[in-house]
Amino acid sequence: MSISEFEIIERYFRQVRPLRDDVVLGIGDDAALLQVPAGYQLAVTVDTLVAGRHFPQYIDAFDIGYKSLAVNLSDLAAMGAGPAWATLSLTLPEADEQWLKAFAEGFFQLATQYRLDLVGGDTTRGPLSITVQLGGLVETGKALRRDSASPGQKLFVTGTPGDAAYALKQLKAGGRVDPSLLRRFNRPEPRVDFGLALADTGAAAIDISDGLLADLGHIVCTSRCGAALWVDRLPRSRALQAMPFEDVLSCQLLGGDDYELCFALDADKAGRVRKIAERQQLLLTEIGVIEPQPGIRCQHDDGSLLFPQGHGFDHFLNENKD
Ligand code: ADP
Ligand code: MG
Repeated sequence: MSISEFEIIERYFRQVRPLRDDVVLGIGDDAALLQVPAGYQLAVTVDTLVAGRHFPQYIDAFDIGYKSLAVNLSDLAAMGAGPAWATLSLTLPEADEQWLKAFAEGFFQLATQYRLDLVGGDTTRGPLSITVQLGGLVETGKALRRDSASPGQKLFVTGTPGDAAYALKQLKAGGRVDPSLLRRFNRPEPRVDFGLALADTGAAAIDISDGLLADLGHIVCTSRCGAALWVDRLPRSRALQAMPFEDVLSCQLLGGDDYELCFALDADKAGRVRKIAERQQLLLTEIGVIEPQPGIRCQHDDGSLLFPQGHGFDHFLNENKD
């Protein structure tokens, strides 16, 4: 039985009622109308997930729906912005209702958790691809920017980086995949509440989508400084503690998809931020220091340097990125 584009939108994507009262006009007109409150700036971000490139074709539709929103929430978290509105551009090979139902469930699970409204989108036919755009709100002047790091600041990371990359490595090898690592790959937890709490600390923040080295590289480049990264102090999940050290380190430095936050912060604010993380039961680890010389120096605790091979992921440099 076939279903029209209109029916897809009505059945799976139009919410019964909007959650937010700043949605003046949602799905159904040529554009949505949204009210930005006085004293706030609009933070806008967009990400595309392409089947076979960002996720293997066989991943659950629920997980695809969840992750397509999670990666955008993570970008807003890294800006210190609170999520408000989403648009969804869906390109589908066919109107598979079972797939659509599961996809929408995954998407709306997170949307409801963060009280954001889906206010529009586009639905077309073609190779499976999902683009989500998110609008968030941040008090004027309080956004966390990549370009504000300065020498002497402490460097922190949330959670346990490397888990998602290790799961992907196991998926590709075709053998057993550790379930806790696979969950980190399929259902990344965007650090929205923590990002919001960081918003008035002046931290220089980024979310780790392409690998810690690559993403920290963006902070130090735009801030015109460098960093020492203490590789032996990178926090490891229980699952990664059981894996070979070299493989783990490579996943932690070069692997993406964790969506943890990495940020540089003035030393005198560290205590306050540690308390926030504790209250949120979020692991927070000091992993280095911002230095004046450009570049990132990966240091072992005995002072020796490590020179990781390769790049974090770049879609045009690294052909093997999924
Ligand atoms: P138009 O031709 O004006 O672009 P569409 O027929 O593409 O309108 O979409 C009709 C309405 O449904 C619009 O308000 C649009 O934002 C919304 N919409 C379309 N696809 C989706 C989707 N996948 N999710 C949410 N809203 C959607
Ligand atoms: Mg359209």
